[in-house]
Amino acid sequence: MHIPRLTIVGFLTFSVLALLAPVGAGWTQSNRSPASGIDTTDLDRSVKPCEDFYRFANGGWIAKNPVPADGSSWGTPQIMRDRNLEQLRTILEAAQKSGASKGTNDQKIGDYYYSVKDTATRNSAGLKPLAPWFNRIDDIHDATSLQAAFAYFATYNVDSPFGIGSAQDLKNSSSVIAEVSQSGISLPDRDYYTKDDDKSKSIRDQYVKHVANVFALAGEVPAAAETKAKLVMEIETRLARASATRIEQRNPMSSYHPMSAEERKALTPNLDWETYLANCGLKNVGVLNVAEPNFFKEVDAMIAGTPIANWKTYLRWRVLNYSAGTLGTPFDQENFDFNGRALTGAKEQSPLWKRAVATTSLRLGEAVGQAYVKRYFAPDAKRQIKEIITNLKAALRERIQQLDWMSEPTRKQALAKLDAIAEKVGYPDKWTDYSKLEIDRGPYALNYQRFQHWSLERDLDKIGKPIDRDEWPAPPQTINAGYLPTRNEIVFPAAILQPPLFDPAADPVVNYGCIGAIIGHELTHGFDDQGGQFDAEGNFKRWWTPEDYGKFQQRTACIENQYSEFTIDDGTHVKGKLVKGEAIADLGGLKIAWLAYQKSLAGKPPSAAIDGFTAEQRFFLGFAQAWKTNARPQSELLQTNTDPHPLPRFRLNGTVENMPEFRMAFGCAETDKMVRVKDHCEIW
Ligand SMILES: [Zn+2]
Repeated sequence: MHIPRLTIVGFLTFSVLALLAPVGAGWTQSNRSPASGIDTTDLDRSVKPCEDFYRFANGGWIAKNPVPADGSSWGTPQIMRDRNLEQLRTILEAAQKSGASKGTNDQKIGDYYYSVKDTATRNSAGLKPLAPWFNRIDDIHDATSLQAAFAYFATYNVDSPFGIGSAQDLKNSSSVIAEVSQSGISLPDRDYYTKDDDKSKSIRDQYVKHVANVFALAGEVPAAAETKAKLVMEIETRLARASATRIEQRNPMSSYHPMSAEERKALTPNLDWETYLANCGLKNVGVLNVAEPNFFKEVDAMIAGTPIANWKTYLRWRVLNYSAGTLGTPFDQENFDFNGRALTGAKEQSPLWKRAVATTSLRLGEAVGQAYVKRYFAPDAKRQIKEIITNLKAALRERIQQLDWMSEPTRKQALAKLDAIAEKVGYPDKWTDYSKLEIDRGPYALNYQRFQHWSLERDLDKIGKPIDRDEWPAPPQTINAGYLPTRNEIVFPAAILQPPLFDPAADPVVNYGCIGAIIGHELTHGFDDQGGQFDAEGNFKRWWTPEDYGKFQQRTACIENQYSEFTIDDGTHVKGKLVKGEAIADLGGLKIAWLAYQKSLAGKPPSAAIDGFTAEQRFFLGFAQAWKTNARPQSELLQTNTDPHPLPRFRLNGTVENMPEFRMAFGCAETDKMVRVKDHCEIW
């Protein structure tokens, strides 16, 4: 699927993939005291807070909450997700039984959900839902029909070997242009194909076996299946080697290459762009952003040099891989064996109903979301969050005014940008229209294909039109939050404004420490290495003076060095360069939340000790509860290698180590582990 590069910069490590990953067995009931908002049984009092705050705050919980057999990690996001799943299940079961009339949202969400769970129909349909696609591949006989097939599959979001979509113009934030981007590989990242360590080699061996198994399930004899799997690996490896790395992609300009028809023809003479675009339903495309020119040069060379038969094998695989999770049981299980067990370390596949809920909610997002908000989002939550945001913005304003390393011209731009930040809290005012999407109780694979086609057409329809600023990047039942630099807006869907991150009934200091720090985290993204490249209207325009940006970068080196020293159990180091953006936002967010809390007191004294902890201590304990986690080694390694968010224990300890306020709240000595006196980092 085509994923726009400048998508939500999330606080949690949730992603589309995580939503579809196996989930835990059930929501463990919390013992949080309603007054303090803290569960004291989560603590491990044998550890001193100044020695290891993560273990002090969460050690009790860690001991009681092993990773469930069907999961790869277990912590706050999974606890919230399981409760969320139960709520969404209630909604979808009701829709399925409602007998809603054809064409209504309730009919569509009820039937989609039903079709995912209907294994009898999935099994009896076999590969029939893919028959027209296989015919389409069989018909390929030259470079022209090959590229026509690329376009045909692109309109179903089968990115092979690249993706197409709409993108906000980085330098003209009110307009939407067409974009093609690197894709076409089936492992989660290009590094899986290129790294030489034993683990990567073993994953590649398992992957080739997996591809062969899927070909065998699709009717190939074992020897042919193995040969074809190797061909797929060859093509994907070439694509991977030509792909930009995740670190390279953190620079938005690295993927901004708008090209005219002549320019794109000159770049890739074998790729007939105008016919390709027309086949995707796009006529008269002026500017096309060719996101990664080097990748497309390689595709161009491959079009000329790779035998048609090999391309056909590759496309067959890509279509099977795209569909595997929607087909009958043998495909579904083989898919889980590799993508679940081998890649994430999960032991069992999560129950079908959970997968059905997650996938229906992901696809028919706002249709499900409308029902979710009605049932599970208290109107007062929105009011309280707006108040917290007001205090956070005031706190950030003061910080920006006081920064001694920032010059006046940069400061002026920063303040203007802060004032222009738009807020999306809870749910959209205008909901997505699903009237053109056809969903029924036939095979799940067909509902999935129709959804993807509808979704891609809807995306391409935005090209050449002004940007829709009311559109939400994620539906309200999404447990995530974000800052969108190209829109200069923060987004807090209803589902993240829930316990333990936010509780409208709890003592406010804990809410400031937890959801306040999350909102603060997102706000600072507007000013950091990513957001600093976009102005108040969301245009790609660096508003820092070069001197100030140099000073900012010098300061970020402190965080990069700090995090590079953290290691996971197998000795792998955290990639400081990869995680520093998120780690800086964590630190800035907590700092601003602290100041916002002081503002909320408006001169009154902080509330008295509850559960033996002062208000200041509860602030940090509130922050800590976001991070309680147990994870399997494979999952920690995957996150360390690919995710710009550091692992939870580093996010907590790494952040509070840099806060003198933490040291004072817990009375830590300068020699304690959690105190960085001389080398503590301060950015915001
Ligand atoms: Zn972030």
